[in-house]
Amino acid sequence: MATLSGALIGCGFFAVNQMHGWRDIVGASIVAICDRDPERLKIVGDQFGIAKRYTDAAEMFASEKLDFVDIATTVVSHRPLVELATANRVPAICQKPFAPTLADAKAMVEACIEAGVPLMVHENFRWQSPIQAVRAVLDSGEIGTPFFGRISFRSAYDVFSGQPYLATGKRFIIEDLGIHVLDIARFLLGDVSTITTRTARINPAIAGEDVATMLMDHDSGATSVVDCSYATKLATEPFPETLIEIDGDAGTVRLAQGYRLTVTGKSGTAVSDVSPPLLPWASRPWHNIQESVVAIQKHWVECLAKGTEPATSGADNLKTFALVEAAYAGAASRQPVQIDALL
Ligand code: NAD
Repeated sequence: MATLSGALIGCGFFAVNQMHGWRDIVGASIVAICDRDPERLKIVGDQFGIAKRYTDAAEMFASEKLDFVDIATTVVSHRPLVELATANRVPAICQKPFAPTLADAKAMVEACIEAGVPLMVHENFRWQSPIQAVRAVLDSGEIGTPFFGRISFRSAYDVFSGQPYLATGKRFIIEDLGIHVLDIARFLLGDVSTITTRTARINPAIAGEDVATMLMDHDSGATSVVDCSYATKLATEPFPETLIEIDGDAGTVRLAQGYRLTVTGKSGTAVSDVSPPLLPWASRPWHNIQESVVAIQKHWVECLAKGTEPATSGADNLKTFALVEAAYAGAASRQPVQIDALL
């Protein structure tokens, strides 16, 4: 396979994981980087030995011949940068949250379709190997047809020191973390028709909500609860594990803290350890997220090579993003929100 030449825009906190990830990927390499902050550009350029450095993305597109771009900036710049990639006919990966609004996200998907440019959202949580293990149980038929799910992320981990912008936005946990957990619910139980949401702000030092509880009707007939909290102090901090309970008509699957998977189904009960691998460059407790970065990048390269649509394409992510918009609308109105009306 020929090596694809990629560029990364946004050399901040999370992009370092993406740069490590790209070094592990066969078939692609990062040939140029861009950040409007020269200091970040120098830190990441020096760490990963990238000589071609730009403070202006338009200049980079004009100067480089790129097979793809990996956009790792924060949300306000996602639409202009994806549109810049589209105008230059360069396939794009865009970090979550996809866009500031669903209208922006739809416009980005439309622009890429019109230009025939592949677009994937870096929605990586469903790519974590423990989550993939749960999906494999469902696909095996062992627990029959799911009728209930609980996808839970509760923690008191200090995410604000690494990502200070999370403390200042009017929206916090649903937009930043809930988006991943809602995507996992879609991945495991299918698309959603209705969502009912309650939120709270427990930490007085932040601007947005740090607790969200969402009840969803899936098109399959299953009901799920997605619950997220950054105000939950536990004996053993589970960050950043997503815990899962799914009940089917022939059994159950549980992904418990410590990556313990228990399946009770047609062939009895089996308990296994589905801990993610600790990649050489990874560090606990982030290693399950870091591993999923490599998995999604591998998927992107395979999709580009085969000309297939990524599982977490821009078009697919509209359905996850719509849940975020609907959750905020429903939290404000205290009414259930229909998803189809938004799409
Ligand atoms: P950050 O603020 O640390 O880094 C963003 C970088 O982008 C900064 O260095 C900034 O100078 C640069 N930048 C912004 N606009 C730019 C532009 N127009 N051109 C060039 N450079 C620009 O932010 P972060 O914490 O790394 O988050 C980045 C994104 O990654 C966010 O959307 C966040 O939600 C997402 N994120 C994803 C995960 C995940 O697991 N998928 C985890 C953490 C963060």
